[in-house]
Amino acid sequence: MANKARTSLKAYTRILIKIGSRVLSTKNGLNYRVIERLCDDLSLLKDSGKEFAIVSSGAIAAGSAIMPVSKKFNALSKTQALAAIGQGSLIRAYNDAFRRYGHVAAQVLMTREDIDNRRRYLNIRNTFTALFEFGAVPIVNENDTVSVDEIQFTDNDLLSAMIIPAVEAQVLIVLTDIDGVYPLDPRIKDHGQRITEIIDIKPKDINASSSEAGEVGRGGIKSKLQAAYRASLLGVPTVIASAYQPQVVSSILAGDDVGTIILPGKSRKLTQKDHWISFVSRPKGKLVVDNGAMKMIMHKGKSLLPCGVVDVEGNFKAGDPITIGDSQGRDIAVGLSNYSSDEVYQIKGANTKDLCAILSKECDEEVVHRNNMIVKKETP
Ligand code: GLU
Repeated sequence: MANKARTSLKAYTRILIKIGSRVLSTKNGLNYRVIERLCDDLSLLKDSGKEFAIVSSGAIAAGSAIMPVSKKFNALSKTQALAAIGQGSLIRAYNDAFRRYGHVAAQVLMTREDIDNRRRYLNIRNTFTALFEFGAVPIVNENDTVSVDEIQFTDNDLLSAMIIPAVEAQVLIVLTDIDGVYPLDPRIKDHGQRITEIIDIKPKDINASSSEAGEVGRGGIKSKLQAAYRASLLGVPTVIASAYQPQVVSSILAGDDVGTIILPGKSRKLTQKDHWISFVSRPKGKLVVDNGAMKMIMHKGKSLLPCGVVDVEGNFKAGDPITIGDSQGRDIAVGLSNYSSDEVYQIKGANTKDLCAILSKECDEEVVHRNNMIVKKETP
């Protein structure tokens, strides 16, 4: 299985690479050697027809080296200022390295808010398509300078997983400072052998794994496995490998036994829209439903009708993502509402045949159509 799965990587042409702050920074600033080696490797692969987007951290680490300030400060504005100082050096390093081989890098900075809105998400997808048509290599980072808690990605590992459909990536490669996943934290003694493959990763496997984020960067192995899980739900494999290994991307794409490959299971793949509803969008409100509606949704694969809604929370517009909760306080699904919160308030409990009269307009039978709904099973 492992060999066959590894060999199938050879056929992939659109690859998303994620590289973290820990390998991109040294005490004295950016680790230019790592960036140059990576761009060298990718340039040769690009010449043979592969396409890449890179999610690159390193702005804050680069900024901290240019503007050494005490590590003790905790003002968000200072971190944002360091990102603004460092992002320029980061993108220049990629530009310089790619230019040597006749390739072009393109800076893409985004916040969670940018892709929380379905229309903006689709716009970003169009921009990626155009960048690939130009033959450019998008270098994506969080726009740390304007990101505050509410609009922040947890870290760049999860940002990578969220943009897989926008980039239309066939494989995610996460480059870090260890050469794969180990049964125990590789920084401790007796951590066991490198795990070469994980098939059909489950949220419980992720929660059991050790290693949290280090001092530099926000990730850690757990968030890499979470990203891999989200990728696997799209049917996309992930390889976690060492950024220090020369020509590591070429080796992975040649099917070599490098790092840990995380392979999707056989269960139904999420569509791009379902993936966006489950993992990218954030609910703008909640609909509480009665037991009858809960059973129809959970066990019969049905849409949510107005007669099953007992309460409306939050302020949302038609088309916004919302959570569906049962009367015991459990969240059972997420979906896109056909109605605004004010409208649902008016039609909750009503019979479908009365909707148009209540709202005095043409209307949909369902509050949330099944095609726009994801029922929760296990989410990490
Ligand atoms: N966006 C941050 C930076 O460029 C890093 C985030 C992360 O480490 O995940 O410095």
